[in-house]
Amino acid sequence: MKVAIITGISGQDGAYLAKFLLEKGYRVIGLIRKNKELPITGLNFLGISDVVELIEIDLLNQLSVEELIKEAKPDEIYNLAAQSSVGLSFKSPVVTFEFNTISVINILEAIRNSSPETKYYQASSSEMFGNIGEENLPLKESVLFHPASPYGISKASAHWITVNYREAYGLNTCCGILFNHESCLRGDNFVIKKIVRTALDIKNKKIDSLHLGNLSVQRDWGYAPKFVEAMWLMLQQDTFKEYLICSGEVTSLRNIAEKVFSKLDLNFEKHVQIEESLMRNVELDIIYGDNSSAKNELDWDYDVSLDQLIDLLISDEKDLLNWKSKEKEK
Ligand code: NDP
Repeated sequence: MKVAIITGISGQDGAYLAKFLLEKGYRVIGLIRKNKELPITGLNFLGISDVVELIEIDLLNQLSVEELIKEAKPDEIYNLAAQSSVGLSFKSPVVTFEFNTISVINILEAIRNSSPETKYYQASSSEMFGNIGEENLPLKESVLFHPASPYGISKASAHWITVNYREAYGLNTCCGILFNHESCLRGDNFVIKKIVRTALDIKNKKIDSLHLGNLSVQRDWGYAPKFVEAMWLMLQQDTFKEYLICSGEVTSLRNIAEKVFSKLDLNFEKHVQIEESLMRNVELDIIYGDNSSAKNELDWDYDVSLDQLIDLLISDEKDLLNWKSKEKEK
């Protein structure tokens, strides 16, 4: 039985990846921060709380990380734990930078010292590209980074640390540069989740309005359960390298929000209000990628269109809300 460690298992991707690996027959060890409240919603909702082994650890403590990896000798490590909000990174740049980089060095050092055969996946982000200029679109793996937020900067550092451990020590490491991917398990502070959830609340007459920032930004949004498959595929290759994982389709936030409202038969203009306070310090106007390397070399079969994505997000959110209300009744 192969052993995989997932850091950040309490997050969106951690839950979907754990489910995917369990279905493949892996023993899954999930790392959570100390004193984490249990049970974890995502794992519970997906019905896998009982089969994932959870270990509390401080990933900033090198000794603890070293001990864990020496003991578990995992076949694969998926490093998903990170302060993952761009907005929050402007408010807490030090915490963001410290956690998102030092935890990576600690894990890679532990692999180098105690388990050099372990394969390592680093969760890199399209936010590393930042202000790249429209002439570079669609983005490819070769485009240089110019991050525009403390989050993007921290992820770019973690990215290069991971590449460096491969080049300097011959470790089996790689980074998946993921563009925005969504699901009902996305944190409440992320905009697509907020739109879908609030629109459903408006539909159910719980509230009347949705407050948003800049609707003109254009992004490449995908479906999280399909994106975690690409992470696994990257670690099954003979050669370790970086890939862009994205939908390849670009659209504006306004278009997505309007589609969600229209699919729920709600009047967008009536319910949506724009708020200056929700605008970012530095906003990337447009960013989207080319997923042809991932599709051709990894055989990644991403085929979710924008309309299918929105339908999935709405139906998954309804399922999550139903599940939560049943849990409350228990
Ligand atoms: P989430 O925000 O849903 O999950 C982040 C995970 O990291 C959570 O398990 C969280 O734990 C953990 N974490 C955060 N801070 C700490 C800390 N100080 N100590 C220990 N654990 C911590 O992110 P996603 O699942 O959406 O993303 C997974 C990874 O992919 C992240 O690294 C993210 O930056 C990256 N990424 C995500 C994209 C996306 O669109 N979703 C796009 C590109 C990259 P807790 O529950 O305790 O807070």
